[in-house]
Amino acid sequence: MGKRRLHIIKRHLAERARALQESIDRSILSIKKGGDSLPDLYDLAASESAVSTELAIRERDRFLLLSLREALGRIEKGSYGTCERCGGAIAFERLMASPATTVCIECKTEEESPGKRSMAPNPADRRDPFETFRTGKGGRMR
Ligand SMILES: [Zn+2]
Repeated sequence: MGKRRLHIIKRHLAERARALQESIDRSILSIKKGGDSLPDLYDLAASESAVSTELAIRERDRFLLLSLREALGRIEKGSYGTCERCGGAIAFERLMASPATTVCIECKTEEESPGKRSMAPNPADRRDPFETFRTGKGGRMR
């Protein structure tokens, strides 16, 4: 991949990571704030369920953030944009849509083709949280 494109992706990744970090920070703040003023037991119960929802979201965000940071690390190492299955180049458009991905569209499609796909979440799904999140696969939200 050309330096210019890599630079664009890197900015894109850093921007996503920053936005995610902010949202994580905000949710931590809102949990702290919510815990300070609890007038009665009903509010406490409601607040606890809100907190556990927040924690689930935060867990997912933390995972996304981690995968973004890994992708940034791969840029630094120079291995970014190379499919870890076939060693081919991952299309720029795919990387822009899904910057933390580690497999090219051909390998991804092959993985998901009927007959080959099992019900268990496969490693590629786990390593591609944006796609997993968008398509509702993965079942990380519980
Ligand atoms: Zn591939």
